Amino acid sequence: ESSIKSEWAGRRVVYFEETDSTNLRAKEAGEKGEAHGSLYVADCQISGKGRRGRSWESPSGTSIYMTLLLRPKILPGKAPQMTLLMALAVADGIREVTGLSTQIKWPNDIILNGKKICGILTEMSAEIDYINYVVVGVGINCNQETFPEELREKATSLKLESGQEIQRAAVIAAVMESFEKYYQIFEKTEDLSGFLDEYNELLVNREREVLVLEPGQEYEAYALGINSSGELIVKTADGQRREIFAGEVSVRGV
Ligand code: ATP
Repeated sequence: ESSIKSEWAGRRVVYFEETDSTNLRAKEAGEKGEAHGSLYVADCQISGKGRRGRSWESPSGTSIYMTLLLRPKILPGKAPQMTLLMALAVADGIREVTGLSTQIKWPNDIILNGKKICGILTEMSAEIDYINYVVVGVGINCNQETFPEELREKATSLKLESGQEIQRAAVIAAVMESFEKYYQIFEKTEDLSGFLDEYNELLVNREREVLVLEPGQEYEAYALGINSSGELIVKTADGQRREIFAGEVSVRGV
């Protein structure tokens, strides 16, 4: 951990051999007033979480489970953009350490050779016009050699894809350094305009059919890319253009 060269992202690391979920630890720290950039890392999670309360498979000794605590001075509606910044940072960090090229499945998954290698879960505590804190949880499958039956078709690890044992600390450091870089660009405009093309290049859904699952409705559409607010721009069957907010939406079809 001491090898992290970023200025604030992950400068302070709190490590747990085992914990229920690093997002819970980070939220606790957020409540206690811990600083922007503190990072909570676990070797194993007892109840790692995905979106909508789904579970995140978190065996010990093999992977990265970490949550970054942020106190961004932005409106709460912009918090989901932190997920997209982190997705870019993870893709960048993985490329730097392993040479592997990943893709982003909007808004919160990283895909390698068609399978999920990383999931991101952003949560926040906010008032109507003020963010108290945001936590950005990241699970990266590093050295798993097998997955439970139900995940075998859709999950993979860096080791399975590269044939090499991965140094988790090196990946953590690379992701933190990269996150900090993207965050600094984000801060200038408070949107993603500084790396929109870069993001869209990595977007696995781009120019593909997607199934949009919104609370209460479901429809097929053609994904064009994201806009500078991080919304996914799609064209529906009747030719309408829609911008989908990352909040609680899933897209299917990788
Ligand atoms: P979808 O892919 O359906 O849009 P999502 O992006 O919302 O879902 P998350 O909630 O982020 O998915 O992640 C939880 C889901 O990811 C689980 O339901 C399971 O299918 C899958 N999963 C759980 N653990 C892992 C893991 N270690 N690696 C890859 N996939 C996992």
